[in-house]
Amino acid sequence: MLFRQPIDHVLKSLQSSKAGLSQVEAKQRLQSFGLNQIAQKKHKDYRVEYLKEYISFFPILLEVAAILALIADYYQPNQGNDILAYAVFGAVFLNATFTFWQKFKADKAMEALLKLIRSEATVLRDGEWQTIDATKVVPGDILQLNEGEKIAADAILLEANDLYLNLSVLNGESTPSARNLMPGDAQRELDAKNMVFAGSAVTNGNGLAIVIATGNATEFGKIARMTAEVAVTVTPIEKEIRHMTSVLTLLALAAGVVFFLLGWFSERGVLISAIFALSLIVANVPEGLLPTITLSLSLASQRMAKRQALIKNLNSVETLGSATVICTDKTGTLTQNEMTAKAIYLADGSEVSISGGGYLESGQLKFERRASEDSEDNLQQLLTVAANNTHATINLEQGTVIGDPTEIALVVAANKYGAFNPYDKIKEYAFSSDRKMMSTLVKKNDHDELFVKGAVESVLPLCSQVQHSSGKVGLTSGEQSKIEKKNKQLAEQSYRVLAIAMKVGDGEHDLVFLGLVGLIDPARPGVKEAIKQCHSAQIEVMMITGDNPVTARAIGEHIGLRVDEVLTGPEVKHLSNTVLQEKLKTKRILFARMASAQKLRIAKLLQENGEVVAMTGDGVNDSPALKQADIGIAMGSGTDVAKEAGDMVLLDDNFKSIVSAVEEGRTVYFNIKKLTTYILSSNVPEIVPYVLQFFLKIPMPLSVIQILLIDLGTDQLPGLGLGAEKPEKHIMQRPPIGRHEKILDWEVFKRGYFMAGVFEGMAAMFAFLGFLFLNGWQYGDLDLSQEFHRQAMTMTLLGAITCQMANVFTLRSWEDSLWHLTRINKMIWFGVAMEMVFILAILYVPMIQSIFNTAMVPLENLWLLLPFPILLVLNHEWYKIRQKAKWQKAIA
Ligand code: ADP
Ligand code: MG
Repeated sequence: MLFRQPIDHVLKSLQSSKAGLSQVEAKQRLQSFGLNQIAQKKHKDYRVEYLKEYISFFPILLEVAAILALIADYYQPNQGNDILAYAVFGAVFLNATFTFWQKFKADKAMEALLKLIRSEATVLRDGEWQTIDATKVVPGDILQLNEGEKIAADAILLEANDLYLNLSVLNGESTPSARNLMPGDAQRELDAKNMVFAGSAVTNGNGLAIVIATGNATEFGKIARMTAEVAVTVTPIEKEIRHMTSVLTLLALAAGVVFFLLGWFSERGVLISAIFALSLIVANVPEGLLPTITLSLSLASQRMAKRQALIKNLNSVETLGSATVICTDKTGTLTQNEMTAKAIYLADGSEVSISGGGYLESGQLKFERRASEDSEDNLQQLLTVAANNTHATINLEQGTVIGDPTEIALVVAANKYGAFNPYDKIKEYAFSSDRKMMSTLVKKNDHDELFVKGAVESVLPLCSQVQHSSGKVGLTSGEQSKIEKKNKQLAEQSYRVLAIAMKVGDGEHDLVFLGLVGLIDPARPGVKEAIKQCHSAQIEVMMITGDNPVTARAIGEHIGLRVDEVLTGPEVKHLSNTVLQEKLKTKRILFARMASAQKLRIAKLLQENGEVVAMTGDGVNDSPALKQADIGIAMGSGTDVAKEAGDMVLLDDNFKSIVSAVEEGRTVYFNIKKLTTYILSSNVPEIVPYVLQFFLKIPMPLSVIQILLIDLGTDQLPGLGLGAEKPEKHIMQRPPIGRHEKILDWEVFKRGYFMAGVFEGMAAMFAFLGFLFLNGWQYGDLDLSQEFHRQAMTMTLLGAITCQMANVFTLRSWEDSLWHLTRINKMIWFGVAMEMVFILAILYVPMIQSIFNTAMVPLENLWLLLPFPILLVLNHEWYKIRQKAKWQKAIA
């Protein structure tokens, strides 16, 4: 049991050292141990998946119909039933292939997205800290452990500061488990308190550890191989579609039975009636909708990923469109999180300015006010204390920095002043957003000193003395108010302010106050515009930050946030739920000095007010709030724990990307409505002619194979094109989508069946009957020549297809006028071009004609196709104008 051995022995047996492995050695070990990853679960067998497309409910209906047609052909040859059979088999094949292709593409899109969530680890190689891909970690590596990180491999601790792990993936226990350098009386690795394990997360503190096992050899790897695949979750939209499909299927089945009986009694023969009924069922159930929608959701999430928002489950794509409040962090999201120390205030009254921005630029420290000759020493001391109390490392030659931007800025400032003395670290009181401070105990010659930094509110109450030029003096109330005044002054200039203090000996009390450092963190470019966009889209933006209220307000106002009131964490604590809820309803609040746990409360109260909440977070303590929010947004640079809790990962941390994601969410919501409406529309011209010929004395207006042709053929590509529409011009000038507005609501059925559908039904019958009458047909004459009948059926078919062509264009926008669309939708044009080619083929190519029962029609009759597509478009456009006026009036 390696974990019981003394550290030197452990290092030796792993052939490593306190300086870590060499690059060369690490490379070799990677070769022999393999990548640090759990063996991939078995890939889907796509051949099986493809075959499955032939044996689900709807294909089987069609297959049965085709077999019936073959049987009919056997008993009554030369009636064209053999061609019908082959055509239906062809339809099954095309449909299966298309559906499979859509699912395959959606799968691949999702896989590509998941690859973007990469895990990293910080290891010591050749004596230098490096951030590498977690899969490259090898046994013998020295691993840095930081709060919120997922641990990359099983390792034995070399150092532990307030270190706690969440081991729930290994033992289901979610209370944090303390770690130290003692193994305890553990009999197996899993119980050893001086070990950390792959897959678990650091909930608090930090440490160093030497890796003993990677990949499948880890405890997690052993378990992970035992548990099989991850359960697939069903998204609400999927549920909605399945529900809709089953209702429509039931209706279609009932209709099918009725038609079958009607056909049978009207002496059409059992077989023919059965074929017809089965095909009608298939034609009227939008069974292709689910794969089309899944594909359009995954395409949307791909577009979002391009815009730096990574969606973890497709659900959230939809929810994003409904967001009414975005609660956002300040640092890193609204600002760049590239801190630069710009001003130092020494406790003796001196003021220092620092030039040069960025981490790697040079700059100078200049005394704007020098209290005394000793001020230089005081400055040197403050910088030494600040820079020694960090985890930041800066490599000027390679131009790399690792660490927290606040801390990097301090080290940079110290470097600008000249080298500071690095001291040996004994232990650390780790930083947490709740404490808002941290301390490091260092060894200085013959004694220990404690170096402290943090928010003024956290550090100043722990101080009892102040460093003046003449030496230490007591912290009087006069001194205190001087410091607080200076703090406020710096904060009003948007500076993030840190207090620096120290003491001889250990313990975070009776400290000596050394001074303040003001750090600037510029707003991200484009954030102001993004906030403006939110406001026009009726989305509130609420800043929730750990920073000082004055700094937060200054920055908020700079980027155009609307702020009626600033509340701080301690103030919020004393407000009752009712009062806070009322404030949230009536005022625009900025929250400062908030503890992470308070975010959860804000999210809950906002939700009780009926808001749909998007909330950002990066730390371990943010995860409850991320889970509670309707859309939890984890920062790409944030902790692994937060990323796991969030629904979405913001790859570039940028607030702008949240707004883009909302835009895509709204877009996809409408796109799904559009494509469903489109697919439902064509059911009417398919079914109406069929019903009519039972009740009127007219020949059959449309054949089975023609119905299938529209449904499984010409509708597919334009439908897909609607699902891939880009955001519309005014999508961010409308209110958020109502929380309980379903995608497949009455509106979809109305526009599909009763608006477009009715016009298409009329178009089909107008073309059919118009053609017959114009060419000398008498009502009631059922005995047409085959050619004449085929021509008439071709007109019906063209009536439906041309209407759908017009329909797809007017449906490109759900709310805006067709004329507002500026972009070209290539997929739709491609689909329409294919339809045109197809129309030419059924008119001119004899072989195609014999498959689809069509014939060339006299060109002078084609005007019959014109009126209804035009009416359909005008009607829908007029409808959109009225609808928009309605909601615009409602929000005015
Ligand atoms: P935010 O990211 O919202 O600005 P944080 O929780 O990161 O808030 O920080 C809260 C406060 O803690 C900061 O305003 C600062 O005063 C202090 N602080 C931040 N980082 C450090 C650090 N590395 N060491 C000590 N104090 C820090
Ligand atoms: Mg922070």
